[in-house]
Amino acid sequence: MKRVLLLATGGTIASRKGPNGLTPQAGAAELLAAFPALKERFLVEARDLLSLDSSNIQAEEWQTIARAVWTGLDRCDGVVITHGTDTMAYTASVLSFMLPDLHKPVVLTGSQLPMDHLLTDARSNLATAFAAVELGLPGVTVAFDHKLIRGCRAAKVRTMAFDAFESVNAPYVARVYANGLRPDPAALRPDRPERPTRLADRLCTRVFLLKLIPGTDPAIFDKLSELQIRGVVLETFGVGGLHYVRRDLLPSLTRLIQRGVSVVACSQCLYETSDLSLYEVGRRLLDCGVIPARDMTTEAVVTKLMWALGQTDDPDRVRAIFDTDLAGEVTL
Ligand code: ASP
Repeated sequence: MKRVLLLATGGTIASRKGPNGLTPQAGAAELLAAFPALKERFLVEARDLLSLDSSNIQAEEWQTIARAVWTGLDRCDGVVITHGTDTMAYTASVLSFMLPDLHKPVVLTGSQLPMDHLLTDARSNLATAFAAVELGLPGVTVAFDHKLIRGCRAAKVRTMAFDAFESVNAPYVARVYANGLRPDPAALRPDRPERPTRLADRLCTRVFLLKLIPGTDPAIFDKLSELQIRGVVLETFGVGGLHYVRRDLLPSLTRLIQRGVSVVACSQCLYETSDLSLYEVGRRLLDCGVIPARDMTTEAVVTKLMWALGQTDDPDRVRAIFDTDLAGEVTL
């Protein structure tokens, strides 16, 4: 029997209705008790780590989760983390960077409906997560709606439907069919057992995400500098552009970068790559010294920037980290 470390952190899967709406109440043992088939097939160590709606999960909680995974890895075949869906993609991305060279599965899952609702998706999502441990594919993934998505490629795209997550710019790692959870060979990454798994849990929280709108005030970049922000993710238009007519964003952006702030530019579009070299409005951005995010999700860019700035103060090192595919988050 495979050994699974089950870490509960809250979310809808663990929630019940209270006077102020849904709040997390059930722990890992209760989740397991609701789905007895899991205990029959796996040796489960259940641990209550947090009891939070995932809107409250931030860098400090990511460190708690990463450390719990790290300390439990030796005594299990894989880890299942139950988590709220709202920020699951951020947690899945950041864990991919905080636990480099994972050789075991670390699978996040949750549900759109609480586990004791008649129509809940908790049972099938948990079952998919446990099946993913059985499959043994290394790395961080999200198990949801009969699919396994690479953690740093996941994005929550629906608020109500059961297929709440998409695998962005990458194939599903595996899917559930009538013959079980089948991996997609095209989605697999080489496992390099010679590289030991590490815990790299330092993060910088002084990161800001700015989605441009037509007419964004250039003064915003000077304000970010006053706020001691060290990294900015810029969601630019289309394949990658910003305005310099009338409200010229370029001088204040250049000042920000010259002060040592790392600025990473991605697209506002969910799918396909950004390419700042295609249009003049993008080339001007490259000339300012922004770092291209290529085809990464915003969640992956934000967490990679927090992680990179946690490892180094040197903007050239941050750029080098963004020029490296660490966990399957980017196509180079
Ligand atoms: N608000 C919940 C959470 O993210 C939503 C969910 O889990 O589906 O914790």
